[in-house]
Amino acid sequence: MAERDFLRWAIGRSGARGTAFAVMTLMVILEDFTAFAVGCDGPNGRVACCPECGRNGVPLEEPDGIFYVHTQASEVLSDGMLTEPRDCCRVNRAAG
Ligand SMILES: [Zn+2]
Repeated sequence: MAERDFLRWAIGRSGARGTAFAVMTLMVILEDFTAFAVGCDGPNGRVACCPECGRNGVPLEEPDGIFYVHTQASEVLSDGMLTEPRDCCRVNRAAG
């Protein structure tokens, strides 16, 4: 079962049974996109080679630039999921 599917499953379970505590203790997942192959579908996009550091990551477009996310932590909360980048590079939009 893929991590994302598992998270959805876990969230559904916690909602149905109200066992948030069990979910909280088990659900902080660190995703390491540097281990993914270029072209793989990541949770937020397709994995590509970071022009900044040469490792693999998932490009993420933000208003102030493009970020290559190399690792991210996904944490399941009682009301949803929080995903935050732990290691990312900012790439100049004008490059290329
Ligand atoms: Zn990078």
